[in-house]
This record gives sequence, structure tokens and C-alpha cells, in this order.
Amino acid sequence: MMNSYSMTQLAASVASAIGAEAPNKSAAPIPAVEHLVENTFGGKADRVLIYNPDCIGLWFWQKYTEMFLPVQYHTQLTVPVATVMPSVTPVCFGTMYTGAMPAVHGIQSYTKPVIKIDSLFDSLTRSGKKVALAAVEGSSMALIFQERNIDYFLLPYDNDVTEKALELIKDDQYDVIVVYNQEYDDMIHDFTPEAPGAMEAARHHIRDFGRLADAVDEYWTKHDTLLVWASDHGNHVDWDGHGNHGEYREEDINVVHFYGAIPHRD
Ligand SMILES: [Zn+2]
Repeated sequence: MMNSYSMTQLAASVASAIGAEAPNKSAAPIPAVEHLVENTFGGKADRVLIYNPDCIGLWFWQKYTEMFLPVQYHTQLTVPVATVMPSVTPVCFGTMYTGAMPAVHGIQSYTKPVIKIDSLFDSLTRSGKKVALAAVEGSSMALIFQERNIDYFLLPYDNDVTEKALELIKDDQYDVIVVYNQEYDDMIHDFTPEAPGAMEAARHHIRDFGRLADAVDEYWTKHDTLLVWASDHGNHVDWDGHGNHGEYREEDINVVHFYGAIPHRD
């Protein structure tokens, strides 16, 4: 069975959380996220940190729940989400950040053109929010949302991206920071979704979300922060024994997102 919440709902959920306009083609926000923000802050968040680990599906969390302790520790809301077809990276992130189906945002296969329709990066900027995108250079996230009025930090690999994001949190100059990491996706294609290297990569993503959340706790004490863990799609073992994704099957379509509301302390 496919999850009932859709990937088209994240953009509006995040926009609503920080009191910004949603992208103009996006679906409605997830009510539970709005309740979390309202109940925790008594209003809106003034900071958002989104961590995008590529390729971690719902099944992986179901099977290795214990491994996610650093994520669960910093979040209060667990949201099952169905991604879109074909379940490949640029298509799914295209939908995550426009709130629109692939036929509307225009990427319907594994290609990485710049998306022309309204995105969360545009609507946040229109609403006066300062946005940073830290991603691995050449990745979908580095390419498909170019030409926006945001600051791009495109770096060789995950560690560089995470270190930059930690620095950005410490400097506290951005309202919204989006962080994209890809090691797990790389590993499942090279090996299998549960090969030792892939398991290690998943642990890295979970650890790094914990590091980013700890930095928010340490440096954003004056802010009400929404933390988001949002993967783009899942994966399955293909006929050739390697991990793959892109199909309409539960392992690829079902993902799980986590939301945390961290109130200011100062
Ligand atoms: Zn992906």
C-alpha cells in the first residue's frame, strides 16, 4: 500500500511553518506540521533547517528503526509520505520543492534541467526570507533550482556540505538552510541497499542530521526552529543484484519524513 500523504505537500508545509508564501502550484500543507509549529511556538517558526538524505525509504526505517535514534531524539513528528513517479532523484526533489507533480514542474525522467515554475526557494525569497542551499556539486539539488535569488554552497561531497552547513548554522545569517547529502544513494547503486557500505552511509546521514540538530540547539537559541528530515524516494534490489529505484512499488515510493520543533531558549 502506498502512503496517503504526498511529496507535493512538503513545500507548503515548510512555507506555512515559517509564515511564508507557498509556491504557487503547490498542494496543501500537512495539517500535523502546522499543528506542531503552532502548538510548540504559539505562532510561526523563524528558522528552518531541512536535511535531505538521498534514497532512504520507509522500509529502511521500518527495518532499522533503532538506527534512527539521533533523528527521533530531535524530532516530534513522523510523517509517512508517498513520492512521485518516476521515483528518481531530480523528479522527486522537483516535486518536494515546488509542491507540484512532475508533469507540472517539467522533470519527468532522470534529467537535471533548471525548473522554471515557482519553487519554495522563490516563494521564501518573495516573503523576505534569506535562503542557503548546501549541496554536493553536480547533484540534482545543485542544478535544478539554480537561477534563484538564494546563496548556493556547492561542494565536492557530503562531508564538505555538512561542514559548511554547520558553519552556516553557527553564523546565523539565513532564515532557511537546505542541506543535501547523497552517499547512501551512491552506495545502493554500487552495491545493495543493505551492503556494509550502504549501511555505513545511512549511519553517516543519521549522524550528520544529529550534528546539525545539535548545532541548532547550540547556536539558534534565540530562534524558533523547524527541523526537517526529508528523503526523496526509497529503493529496492534490482534483477542484477544492485540497489535501484524509479519504479511504482512500495519500496521506492514510500518514504518517511521527520519534523522537529525546537523553541527558542533566550
Ligand atoms: Zn535520490
